[in-house]
Parts: sequence; C-alpha cells; structure tokens
Amino acid sequence: MVRARDIRKSFGNVEVLKGISLDINAGEVACLLGPSGSGKSTFLRCINHLEKIDGGQLWVQGERIGYRRSGNKLHELKEHETAKQRAHVGMVFQQFNLFPHRTALENVIEGPTVVQRIPKEQAIEEGRQLLARVGLADKANHYPGQLSGGQQQRVAIARSLALKPSVMLFDEPTSALDPELVGEVLDVMRSLADSGMTMIVVTHEMGFAKEVGNVVHFMADGQLVESGDPHQVLEDPREPRTQAFLSKVL
Ligand code: ADP
Ligand code: MG
Repeated sequence: MVRARDIRKSFGNVEVLKGISLDINAGEVACLLGPSGSGKSTFLRCINHLEKIDGGQLWVQGERIGYRRSGNKLHELKEHETAKQRAHVGMVFQQFNLFPHRTALENVIEGPTVVQRIPKEQAIEEGRQLLARVGLADKANHYPGQLSGGQQQRVAIARSLALKPSVMLFDEPTSALDPELVGEVLDVMRSLADSGMTMIVVTHEMGFAKEVGNVVHFMADGQLVESGDPHQVLEDPREPRTQAFLSKVL
C-alpha cells in the first residue's frame, strides 16, 4: 500500500531524512516510534505530499507520489495538481485543526463537497454516518469549542475518512489530550484498524502499539533503526539506540 525507497529530505543544509526505506502492506497498522526530532512527522508529511522529497521514491497504492503516468512516461506533478493524490492519504494531527466556525458535520463534509464536488445531500448523509462511526452522532451540530479535545479529535478522524482515503496517517493523535480522553480516541483508531484500514501511527502509546500494531518501526536521527513485531521491538529491542530510547520512555 505504501512503498518508500531511500527517502531523503533536508531543510537548508540539515538532512532530516537520511534514506528511509519501508513497506506498509494493505490492512497493516504500522507504528512509528522514535525520539523527538528524529524525522517522524517529516516522513508522514512526505507520504502525504505536504513536503516534497529531495531524493528517493514513494508510492501509495502503486501510484508514484508527485508524478502522473501517461502511457509509459512519468510526468512530475505541479503543486496545484497534487490535491487529488493527497486525498488518497488521510492525515490526523496532534492539534485537531478543525474549522472553529463550522459545526462538526460541516467540518466533515467540507472535503467531499469542496474538493471532490460530491452533492451536498449525499455528503451530509455520509458525514452523519461517519460521525456515528466515531461515536458522535449526537454532536453533529456542535462547534469545536463546544466539544472536548477527545471529541474534536474524533471529528478530525471522521473528516479525514470522509475523503475515503486508502491509507490513514496519524501524527501523535493523542499527545495533546488530557489523559482521561486518550482512550476514546485510541478506541476509534482500534475499530478503524479492525475494519481493515491501512494505518501509519506515530505514537508514544506503547500499549496501543503492542495491541493494535502489526509492526513497529523505530526511527532515530533520520534513519530507520529497527523494524519488527511490536512485542519483539518494544520488549526485546536489538539495537542500542532502540534500547536507550525505550529505557527512557517506559
Ligand atoms: P519528529 O516528528 O520525529 O519529532 P520532525 O520530523 O518534526 O521530527 O523534525 C525532524 C527535524 O527536522 C527536526 O530537527 C526539526 O527541527 C526539523 N524540521 C522539521 N520541519 C522543518 C521545517 N519546516 N523547516 C526546518 N526544519 C524543520
Ligand atoms: Mg513529530
């Protein structure tokens, strides 16, 4: 579903991604761990085409990110042509980024009606179903300011799903939440995983990584240090850098 080969990205003369290669299979939940500044967010943003890579190749569902095929030629996409490709990849951020002056339902239908030009009636119908799926059927007409952080994050998940992505990226989705609100968001993510969604999750929630994750990738200093079964990587890491990180966070 996602194939990354030797991904490189620099900001100025600082190389933040130093050749990341990994594969995410369809239906897999891959958890991405690593110290702050190791390049996790940048890597997700590259997959979603929010950052342009300096080297390497990225494919989502067999489609090369940033390129369009015509016949047997690859053409580089212009910036304004990347929106359609981006819609295949949903992204949920630490800060929920909802439109504050729109209701939960209006937030959810924004993408389908504006980007995908789906008829409003249909978008509303699907939007209500999505809000029900994240447990917020009764909050459709609430504004973000009237919702808890956990509820806002669930609206943000519903909003991403509204574009019918084939992959969902989560960048520390529970890090900004009060501890008692973390569980309700993880529950929604768990049910999404159970439904077969392909997910890449940057998280410090080791319990989630072990229970829901199929694979853990540990990143440090712009490199992929260790990948494997969540229990193996988290309980019996092979690499010194993984061991050092885990001894600090556990
Ligand atoms: P992580 O998510 O693992 O904490 P990031 O991907 O956010 O790491 O950041 C990796 C490194 O890239 C950090 O040193 C950060 O300061 C730097 N960085 C990220 N985005 C930018 C940017 N837009 N401009 C300059 N430096 C950036
Ligand atoms: Mg980050």
